[in-house]
Amino acid sequence: QAKHQGRNHYLVFRPSFDQGDYKRLLLKSQFEQALADRQFYLEYQPRVDLESGGIIGLEALIRWKHPTEGIVAPGEFITLAEEIGFIIPLGEWVIREVCSQMKHWQEQGIPAVRTSINVSAKQFNKASFVDKVQDILNEIGIGPSLLEFEITESALMGHAKPIIDDLKVFKDMGIFLSIDDFGTGYSSLQYLKLFDVDALKIDRAFIKDLPRDKLLAKMIISLARKLRLQVIAEGVETSAQHAWLLNSGCHEAQGFLYSKALPASDIEYLLKA
Ligand code: C2E
Ligand code: MG
Ligand code: MG
Ligand code: MG
Repeated sequence: QAKHQGRNHYLVFRPSFDQGDYKRLLLKSQFEQALADRQFYLEYQPRVDLESGGIIGLEALIRWKHPTEGIVAPGEFITLAEEIGFIIPLGEWVIREVCSQMKHWQEQGIPAVRTSINVSAKQFNKASFVDKVQDILNEIGIGPSLLEFEITESALMGHAKPIIDDLKVFKDMGIFLSIDDFGTGYSSLQYLKLFDVDALKIDRAFIKDLPRDKLLAKMIISLARKLRLQVIAEGVETSAQHAWLLNSGCHEAQGFLYSKALPASDIEYLLKA
């Protein structure tokens, strides 16, 4: 007993223990309770047409209003949620929440725009994922063409089989599909033939240094256009980036230049305008 305690003691106070480890443990134990207590919420970032500047879509981004930690960003808990399987109920909650929000806007007579949802590779490992999505759409009464699923390049590479099958079904249902963070994975271009997606989202890393460093952004835009895919620039912050992207044939953009992610009530205001 004493030995056991001693070991725990050592573990807790080992030199590598830091605030980050403690936070991870804390967050992990509180996921279930947090979902039940409605501590998760969504913000929506506008997606704009580069040519007209108009809002043509939204991306749903999750946040956690933690009772003691404050607002926790998804970068701090999504990986952990994936590791412990919590991404399944959490991911379902996100899809349901987005559909409810769009239904609400429709009922208010607010013009609906397509909204993208970040879907984790782990969600595809569950055999019932497709049925679940179909059930949610039926139950809430939302058309699949209002939904877009964003899947990261690395997710596509690592878990090919169940993902290929499910993506085909989603595509046939009429859900728009895009590859998120494009250009950051260790990909061969081969998988673009395997996955019949509609759009590529250029990772922020390739937008950051535009127009000075333009080689990769240029290549991705040209690739997307040759494959007849929609191409979206992520993380646009300056008007110089905007001008370059517009000139280079990019279709769509997202970034702080236009708007950060906002609560649904603020988005409602923008959509009405
Ligand atoms: P992502 O899908 O690539 O989302 C873009 C991220 O860039 C968002 O961060 C957004 O707030 C941020 N961003 C947008 N414009 C700019 C800009 O101009 N400059 C900069 N510096 N950043 C910008 P966020 O909301 O913290 O999300 C981070 C990541 O967490 C997302 O990256 C996505 O991979 C993941 N995530 C967010 N919500 C969900 C979700 O519901 N489910 C899953 N599985 N993952 C999610
Ligand atoms: Mg995304
Ligand atoms: Mg992205
Ligand atoms: Mg990203």
